[in-house]
Amino acid sequence: MIDEQQMEFVLNLRQSGISDNTVLAAMERIPRAAFLDGVFKDRAFENRPLPISCGQTISQPTVVAQMTQALEVTKRCKVLEIGTGSGYQAAVLSRLARRVYSIERHRPLAQQARAVLQGLGIANVTVITGDGGHGLPDQSPFDRILVTAAAEDPPAALLNQLKPGGIMVIPVGQSDVVQNLIKIVKTENGLEYSELSEVRFVPLLSGVAKD
Ligand code: SAH
Repeated sequence: MIDEQQMEFVLNLRQSGISDNTVLAAMERIPRAAFLDGVFKDRAFENRPLPISCGQTISQPTVVAQMTQALEVTKRCKVLEIGTGSGYQAAVLSRLARRVYSIERHRPLAQQARAVLQGLGIANVTVITGDGGHGLPDQSPFDRILVTAAAEDPPAALLNQLKPGGIMVIPVGQSDVVQNLIKIVKTENGLEYSELSEVRFVPLLSGVAKD
């Protein structure tokens, strides 16, 4: 049963320019409130980033939608996400992809995301605690890679783990300033870059956090 607020949430995404119906349907099905704590649960329908544990943030819904749309995920895709955070983006991807691997450097966030995903009955997402900058060599190559933290340059390890024909979406630029959301397509002739929009993400940091 999808309630009125959830329908309005999706309508707002459509009005913001998201046109891919598979993305809209996926986001209609995933309750953002489940990925938020305490007082923030009531604000799940707002089009804003909101605080989660470990000083991190759940992204703004229109940005989640835009990144997901740009990734062009199909049911055949094996997807790698860097920056699990709350697990919300991974949950949205889970409805579009065959398999999702998501890496988070904060162990408590990874544990919490796993529990929420399990509670929602989502079984095709694997959350790993680690430094996503190295990717996941054991499971590579990937059809799609989504990075939800900003890097100064797309990490070479991730580009190497992208299949030919694969797509990577990543915010590029320094932290504390506006970054560019970039789409990279791996073609026979090399990498093709396009700029999608200006965004603001927390930085992609190296190493596993000590918490
Ligand atoms: N996709 C998340 C929001 C991302 S916030 C959601 O849907 O809620 C960015 C996340 O990236 C943070 O949780 C941060 O801890 C994580 N992160 C930053 N650098 C990382 C790295 N090198 N490896 C894995 N995770 C990283």
